[in-house]
Amino acid sequence: MKPDFEILRRNTPGCRPGYTHLNAAGASLPDQSVIEAVLAYNKLEAQLGGYEAARETSETLERFYPAVAELLNCEANEVAFLENATRAWQAVFYSFSFQPGDRIVTCETEYASNFIAYLQRKRREGVIIDVIPAQDDGDIDLSALDAAITDRTRLISMSHIPTSSGIVLPAEEVGAIAKKHGVPFLLDACQSVGQIPVDVKAIGCDMLSATGRKYLRAPRATGLLFVNRAMQKKLEPFVLDLHSAKWIDDDSYEVREDGRQFENWEQNIVGKRGMVQAIENANTIGLEVIHQKIREQANTLRAMLTDIRKITLLDLGKNKCGIVTFSVNGQDAIKVRDALYQRGIATASIAGWNSLIDTRRRNIPSLVRASVHYYTNDQDLLALTDALQDLR
Ligand SMILES: *Cc1c(COP(=O)(O)O)cnc(C)c1O
Repeated sequence: MKPDFEILRRNTPGCRPGYTHLNAAGASLPDQSVIEAVLAYNKLEAQLGGYEAARETSETLERFYPAVAELLNCEANEVAFLENATRAWQAVFYSFSFQPGDRIVTCETEYASNFIAYLQRKRREGVIIDVIPAQDDGDIDLSALDAAITDRTRLISMSHIPTSSGIVLPAEEVGAIAKKHGVPFLLDACQSVGQIPVDVKAIGCDMLSATGRKYLRAPRATGLLFVNRAMQKKLEPFVLDLHSAKWIDDDSYEVREDGRQFENWEQNIVGKRGMVQAIENANTIGLEVIHQKIREQANTLRAMLTDIRKITLLDLGKNKCGIVTFSVNGQDAIKVRDALYQRGIATASIAGWNSLIDTRRRNIPSLVRASVHYYTNDQDLLALTDALQDLR
């Protein structure tokens, strides 16, 4: 059954006359049900105290794990809740131990935080970073990826959808190559989870991280991690506490045997409550229809932008998503973002260093990003294009 996107829009208080929010890839607008869950939980904490509120709500909070399992097609015991996607990603990346000469394979559109972590491991342990070149259209060169893998390759790690170029990388093809060579595959799915169907079995990734606040419409400071059972057995978390491990006696401890070995005891519980609601909402609507609607709106926007002469579209690749990137007469993106915001239109400005290799290759110092969601309607798109026409 097709959901009524007008109703979903009406349940989004941020969708209101005179305001146009096109920054789902930064932090999307929450649904009323998520806002209410968070407010009610805050109230309960005020009335009962933090521990007592968590106990009273434990059944709902526990639904986080099966909800993520349904979303990603994995098992509930392969899931962890973390305070953001970066921490989730780091929780597995830093649990790998590398020897000098070990290799990490990534691609040109890789996200700054991840690449900085590769560089840190290069500095500390002497790992070698293999960056797979992009083809002219921006898509990753899969045969180059296949050819780059050696018997020293310890990890394939890349972002499914980069922050800065509208492209969806062919994660399933990468997963097949990873499987063929028996190399672990870590997918940063920050921009894809909640936007497009992400099936970890179909993709064949061993580990995946994502955030709550982007396409999932959950509160800020929430993140999720998937680590399959086989990887859990191979990796010991690089930090442990009394939640991720059990203190047995003077000389020993045991690590938890599920995804929560990557969690801390103390958590953003109110955020988790909101995220449970947000993920269950996404599962109910269905990722296929969400994806279809987002793609439709983004393609409409791209077509509208093509008609404006001072706009240069900067999206890469064959398979594009809800992230639409462009520049306006070569102007600084922050200036454009601010001018649009003054007209009640929220977009994002992305500095080139967010994705340094890709933006340097294309000579893009900064870009404007308009990212749509399923609650974006045609008036929103018109508001943006009208304002862009107006900009001097
Ligand atoms: C936003 C983003 C992140 C970081 O997510 P946080 O929740 O802020 O930690 C990581 N990777 C990509 C590709 C992103 O777009």
